[in-house]
Amino acid sequence: MEKTPHIAILPSPGMGHLIPMAEFAKQLVHHHHISATIIIPTTGPPPKVQTSILESLPENIHHIFLPPVTEVATLPPGTRPEIQVFFIIQSSLSSLRDALTSLKSKTHLVALVFDMFGHDSIEVAQEFNLFKFLFFPMNAMALSFTFILPNLDKETSCEYKDLPYPVKVPGSVSFRGRDLMAPVQIRTDEAYKGYLQFSKRLTFLDGILVNSFHELEAETFRVLSTVGPIYPIGPLIRSDTNNGSDRHESLKWLDHQPTKSVVLVSFGSGGTLSLDQIHELANGLETSGQRFLWIVRSPNEKASNASFFTASSQTESLGFLPQGFLTRTKNQGLVVTSWGPQIEILSHGATGGFLTHCGWNSVLESVVHGVPMIAWPLYAEQHMNAKVMTESLSLALRAESDDCGIVRKEVIEKVVKELMEGDEGKKISKRLNELKVAAMKALSDGGSSMESLSKFAVQLMKK
Ligand code: UDP
Repeated sequence: MEKTPHIAILPSPGMGHLIPMAEFAKQLVHHHHISATIIIPTTGPPPKVQTSILESLPENIHHIFLPPVTEVATLPPGTRPEIQVFFIIQSSLSSLRDALTSLKSKTHLVALVFDMFGHDSIEVAQEFNLFKFLFFPMNAMALSFTFILPNLDKETSCEYKDLPYPVKVPGSVSFRGRDLMAPVQIRTDEAYKGYLQFSKRLTFLDGILVNSFHELEAETFRVLSTVGPIYPIGPLIRSDTNNGSDRHESLKWLDHQPTKSVVLVSFGSGGTLSLDQIHELANGLETSGQRFLWIVRSPNEKASNASFFTASSQTESLGFLPQGFLTRTKNQGLVVTSWGPQIEILSHGATGGFLTHCGWNSVLESVVHGVPMIAWPLYAEQHMNAKVMTESLSLALRAESDDCGIVRKEVIEKVVKELMEGDEGKKISKRLNELKVAAMKALSDGGSSMESLSKFAVQLMKK
């Protein structure tokens, strides 16, 4: 049998965790004598975007699709995506066992790497005598918060949003209860019980891989280093972007704009705004006088929609935008429906700012390309990210909402102008330029994330 260490990687369904976990596998295989198999839970035939990523991986990264969990369709209508994901993984554990049995017979299998929805696979890893590693796709601050959750739970009797004092996250800032991540907002909810159980299991792991880097969150990583093997291995962002001839219309439009003159406006893979909020945003962008590239979705009163499992690419009518907006701004901005090639846009020389919902992948992509940000959080852990980005990491200005939760057009106009032309914007831009260099260094030979990956590889060799 081959003696090269082999690891199994179990990303939760959807693209959000598969992309950074596949990038992690690439780094590991490229820099160390290790091979990997990505094991993917499914609910039906895999979407094309997923297979195209998997098929483009180097030959020593294999993949297996687990049999579809069709019972997910029997969950009550309206079951939230995270509960569905958790259900799919739980229902896939026996086929995971089969996959590991087969891998063990063919390879020198040493570890199982899973994300936070896959923590039920800890017992399976134990049965197979494998190292158990968590891949944490959020930042060090969110991990530090997750470590204190079991105590917070014990000490608190009310909902966290009703706490009269802020929650201090070790190595980071303090948060109002209502700004804590979405899964902990309703303590009687299944999502809370699942996240709490996950947080209690952190101490049973052999190590945690974090998609961030030391230079970005030095103090938080210093504090975390006292709780166990933590490996900052980021920033891992999608590297197989399309450089072919069928360039997206947004990139062709950017080609004709001055250097660093355009602010990208995008709310991630599923973020949506209410109709009122879309109108405020349109009007604020228009009166800011700044060039913009807006990836817009149809209005929705809830902040996130159902495009959680797959990247959406439907075309939509823009009839919901304020009357005459597109005509008035035709020389100032471009509106793209639903989806745009975000990484290529951020890496384009004409892009000078990014109004973002603060999803961690988007933040890392902006850091890698040195683009200063405006933080406009919507859901998940984005309110925590926004606070850290503005108050402690100096990555972004904040688009503040009013008491009704709406970011008004005057606020948008001011913050966009400030980012693109003001002194605060210049400071943040300088900081992003420094971080862009630091990110590159972290991932080059001898850099902090490469060193971390080497330590991880050394740990794998011990099996
Ligand atoms: N993305 C994209 N085009 C879009 C919207 C999103 O390519 O129009 C990508 C973006 O580059 C990032 C991911 O989708 O890699 C979004 O991840 P993030 O963690 O920022 O937010 P989420 O979608 O999980 O809320």
